[in-house]
Amino acid sequence: MPIATHQAWHALPAEAVLARLASDPYGLSEQEAARRLSRFGQNSLPGAQSAGPVRRFLRQFHNLLIYVLIAAAVITASLAHYVDTSVILAVVLVNAAIGFVQEGRAEAAIAALHRMLAPMATVLRDGQRRRISAADLVPGDMILLEAGNRVPADARLVEANRLKAQEAILTGESVPVEKTTAPAAEDAALGERQSMLFAGTLVVAGQARAVVTATGASTEIGRISRLLGGIEELTTPLLRKMDIFARWITALILFGAGLLLVYGYFVQNHPFETLFMTVVGLAVAAIPEGLPAVLTITLAVGVRKMASRHAIVRRLPAIDTLGAVTVICTDKTGTLTRNEMMVASLRTSATRYEVTGDGYLPTGEILPSSDTTLDGDAAFAALVETALACNDSTFLDRQTGRETSGDPMEAALLVLAEKAGRLGDRDHFERLAVMPFDAEYRYMATLDRLPDGETRVHVKGAPEAILALCKTQMAAAGSSEPIDPSFWHAQTDSMAAEGQRVIALACRAVEKSRTLSQKTLEEGLIFIGLVGLIDPPRSEATAAVAECQSAGISVKMITGDHAATAAAIAARIGLNAPALVLTGRDIDALDDAQLIEEASLTNVFARATPEHKLRLVNALQAKGEIVAMTGDGVNDAPALKRANAGVAMGITGSDAAKEVADLVLTDDNFASIVAAVREGRTVFENIRKVISWTLPTNSGEAAVVILALLWGFAMPLSAIQILWINLVTAGSLGVALAFERTEPGIMRRPPLPVDAPVLDRTLVWHVVLVSILFVVGTYGVYNYALDRGYDLQLARTLCVNTLIVLEIFHLFFIRNFHTTSLTWEAVRGTQAVWICLVIVVAGQLLFTYAPFMHRLFETRPVSLLDGAIVIGVGLAFFAIIEMEKQLRLRLSAAGSD
Ligand code: ADP
Ligand code: MG
Repeated sequence: MPIATHQAWHALPAEAVLARLASDPYGLSEQEAARRLSRFGQNSLPGAQSAGPVRRFLRQFHNLLIYVLIAAAVITASLAHYVDTSVILAVVLVNAAIGFVQEGRAEAAIAALHRMLAPMATVLRDGQRRRISAADLVPGDMILLEAGNRVPADARLVEANRLKAQEAILTGESVPVEKTTAPAAEDAALGERQSMLFAGTLVVAGQARAVVTATGASTEIGRISRLLGGIEELTTPLLRKMDIFARWITALILFGAGLLLVYGYFVQNHPFETLFMTVVGLAVAAIPEGLPAVLTITLAVGVRKMASRHAIVRRLPAIDTLGAVTVICTDKTGTLTRNEMMVASLRTSATRYEVTGDGYLPTGEILPSSDTTLDGDAAFAALVETALACNDSTFLDRQTGRETSGDPMEAALLVLAEKAGRLGDRDHFERLAVMPFDAEYRYMATLDRLPDGETRVHVKGAPEAILALCKTQMAAAGSSEPIDPSFWHAQTDSMAAEGQRVIALACRAVEKSRTLSQKTLEEGLIFIGLVGLIDPPRSEATAAVAECQSAGISVKMITGDHAATAAAIAARIGLNAPALVLTGRDIDALDDAQLIEEASLTNVFARATPEHKLRLVNALQAKGEIVAMTGDGVNDAPALKRANAGVAMGITGSDAAKEVADLVLTDDNFASIVAAVREGRTVFENIRKVISWTLPTNSGEAAVVILALLWGFAMPLSAIQILWINLVTAGSLGVALAFERTEPGIMRRPPLPVDAPVLDRTLVWHVVLVSILFVVGTYGVYNYALDRGYDLQLARTLCVNTLIVLEIFHLFFIRNFHTTSLTWEAVRGTQAVWICLVIVVAGQLLFTYAPFMHRLFETRPVSLLDGAIVIGVGLAFFAIIEMEKQLRLRLSAAGSD
């Protein structure tokens, strides 16, 4: 049958839409969907074009530092120093090549992350619920939506339940609009087509079932914008700061070089051409042209490592913040706990039951604690009926696995019914209406027609919420009696104190004609009893919480659960002061100033709503904290946005939460947040290491030359040799540091402030020290050579090798800035370090022993003994800076005691 597209779908009744799209309420078959996919194409908008390889390569040259080098090349060429020109150009090319390759890899890695976060859709195929990539939707597909979902395609509603959508992206109207299945007027404006859902808009309340009418570029959003979401630039505030820093250094170097030129020519009377070439060599060596590329690589490596630890960075600037986090506010259920629930106890007015078993396995017993029998307690039967009816979860594979879909707590209720031998009853219930669970009012209600012909309301939810709706309770005989709220509150508290999640169940028979509404519930329900569920803490959570506390990060739990349950779980995973709990009501009673004080003292927040989360973030930030906050629901979005690092759950999270988050956890696990913080700190450390290696070595090289110029010594190395050193080291050695592993103590140090200077006092002192040692080492070797009566060429060859050896030793030193470099683990290093080392050593051997190099660079072969002396100088240098570090570490350890 031909499928009609481009119709006024909003004006047609749902049945007509289904017919014209050749679909039915149970969706398409997989076969038909595949056929349509090849006909209509993928449901995605053409993305922004990324730059082609040529453009990307050329972009590597667009950098002030490189412009200076190119200018130097032009000048040397005009002076006919062609070898110098080629070496400078080689530096430029090597640098561009590294930048090009690494940036390409980084962009590919980030594109892969974005694909991992590609939108998904729930669809009916062959009558089954499936989660598929939204790109595979086709016209005619039946999609299921609920609050928090981003609408994946334009669709006509077939069923809508208290549905509201926020369509600002299309209509500019930020107030959510109500949606129903009734046809709209043919000429209705986009914002008034209440029977339609449009791709890109957000479902903010309710549930819906809708048939896809248009996909990809044919959707309303596809028509107005063909380009959504550009390519993100690989940078963070810290990197931008470093970029500016590198530019300042360049300006400083150019200025200094000008002064040297004037001084050398007029005061020292050096011949102009040699002087000029030396100053150019000096400037080229000192300019940290490799820095921007290396820093980008550091960032990309960090992003990749986080992804491998189940934390996907959505916004790169968040990496800076993650390393600086001082408070993590986390959900309880599913994040700190496993979210694999099991009913452990029941309480009816007659008695308490213990339930045995193992997770979702159907084996286990329900044991009354008095001489009541299961059959003798009418409340027990009502409890199981309500648990089955007021339930949206299913077993995906009932034969083999225990895989469940939907809320794990509801799955646990199905297992309870199974243990009671009543699971099959559900097939005979006919659901007439549902009020979905909402964290705002904390209950869920259904209206069901039962096999006995009666129509009943079934409700489950937080005990306080349910008790507020009940005037009577069910007695063992099935009759209703006046309710005793204080009894149920006491029972709730004692179950919760054991760490159980407690929900209450209630029901009532209604006339057949009744609809389900708040009013129906408020007319009074019969309280049936309580169900206590256990949800074991994740084993990694305890260790991760301890790690945070040693890293100076406080962990706060914010949950919708009962105060006593929250406190019990908090104690089990080792939160500080677990018994001190603030409930949502307590928070409401505090004004903002009071909350600022209380929020920093308290670590457990119970019965809290998303609005409370937002107030807590604000309060903590007012105290100067850098806050990471987790969330999953639509209503969590404002708090996630407000937090310094918003963290969304990848599995249970709504699209709304994921879209505003900085970080998405693919395993919903608290430990992954901590892993991301650790990687964030590592990125910052490695950036510091790259700079700590680059600055002192560059300034050390420069100091050697400047000294010779100022005091009129003979140059221990020629201009072209300076350029050579720059060529072999800049591209290779610095890059190795981007791949450094996390230093062991990184989570035993307090967080650094976000605006911590990269160049702190220790580092400045280190630059000075290393510069002095470079000068001493190089001139020492130079004088030794002259004393031995070597010619200038050999003396200079030794000096070049000395500088390179010093740089290599410095690299090994800087890799362990906070601990000793003298352990096997520390020496072994990363693969990247060794690759770079091999490249540099091979280059140096060529430089020293290859005849053509002798001609190009005026070098001479070095004897074994002299080679050993050069390495000895390196070792001595290493010993000195290592001792200085050990002393500094001891002193600061003593200082902090
Ligand atoms: P959490 O922070 O533990 O995820 P929620 O906001 O999800 O808390 O739940 C808060 C309370 O609402 C729970 O303690 C429970 O009593 C009740 N509740 C949670 N989920 C449901 C549901 N699907 N149906 C009915 N009540 C629920
Ligand atoms: Mg929850």
